[in-house]
Amino acid sequence: MKGAARMSEGMDHSRITRRGFLRFSLAAAGGVVALGPRWSAAQGKKKGDSGPEGSRSGSQISRWALLSDTHIAGDTEDNYRGFYPYRNLQKAFTQIGSDLPEGLVVTGDVARLTGQMDDYENFRKLLLPLVGRRPTYVALGNHDDRDHFLDVFESPAGQRPPVKGKHIGTVDAGPVRFILLDSLISTNLTMGLLGKAQRTWLQQYLQTGDDKPVLLFFHHSLRDEDGDLQDLPRLLDIIKPATKVKALVYGHSHEYGFSDCEGIHLVNLPSVAFNFGDDQPIGWVEARLERASGTFVLHALGGNRDQDGRARELRWRS
Ligand SMILES: [Zn+2]
Repeated sequence: MKGAARMSEGMDHSRITRRGFLRFSLAAAGGVVALGPRWSAAQGKKKGDSGPEGSRSGSQISRWALLSDTHIAGDTEDNYRGFYPYRNLQKAFTQIGSDLPEGLVVTGDVARLTGQMDDYENFRKLLLPLVGRRPTYVALGNHDDRDHFLDVFESPAGQRPPVKGKHIGTVDAGPVRFILLDSLISTNLTMGLLGKAQRTWLQQYLQTGDDKPVLLFFHHSLRDEDGDLQDLPRLLDIIKPATKVKALVYGHSHEYGFSDCEGIHLVNLPSVAFNFGDDQPIGWVEARLERASGTFVLHALGGNRDQDGRARELRWRS
């Protein structure tokens, strides 16, 4: 009851769906206008395909704000290594709000450490200026608590996730499609795992529908460390032959970087909250996504700002 009811205050036709991560739509004068891509649960089903930019210009560019590891605590003054996650996310949302993309994706570790209700309440507070204007989709990380998150971002009843107990789904984003996966095993356990049920769902999903380019979003990083995604080899077995999958986007490491696995782009988002090393930026990434490529621009808020504003273009594999 908590978050959703209050979040909806003052907005017509706005709502938050559990399985849709956070879906908002806005009633404009003269009719309801979908300002963001719609949540699509069934394969290939879509609605409101292109947002305002695409529909105005016909350019088929879908612009998104990508954030990760916001680490919001119940205490708004919580800080680490001299960084203040609450203030940093406030800055990021202000920047995003001043030049609205079609939506936002947050790849986990929304909460500081153990996914407390207060953490999500503060995240919700910071998000309020964007509510009803653009959709926000969240994948959960190892410092998140699935139940607490879903309690704050409540959904209407009657919607069941495609994989029981996992917070996953798909988003039509104009020229591309997003699939958000859930690599949270257990709150505050560092390593990540998709698990067989989710991998099976993904494999089946990828075998259906059109060949629109797909970007996968999840929390855990892809090195071969104990804290990384443990079933990466099995995930790669599924996505390597599925050529519609063009990129994997994730966080967790608090390191900004691009790499490649047999033509599949690997995009490691920086943390919005704090870095673990002085060489790393904190901030968010603006993605301009097209049918054949994506351009990623860093908005550095602190840490190493050398790459602030730098664009990186990735061509999708065919
Ligand atoms: Zn993490």
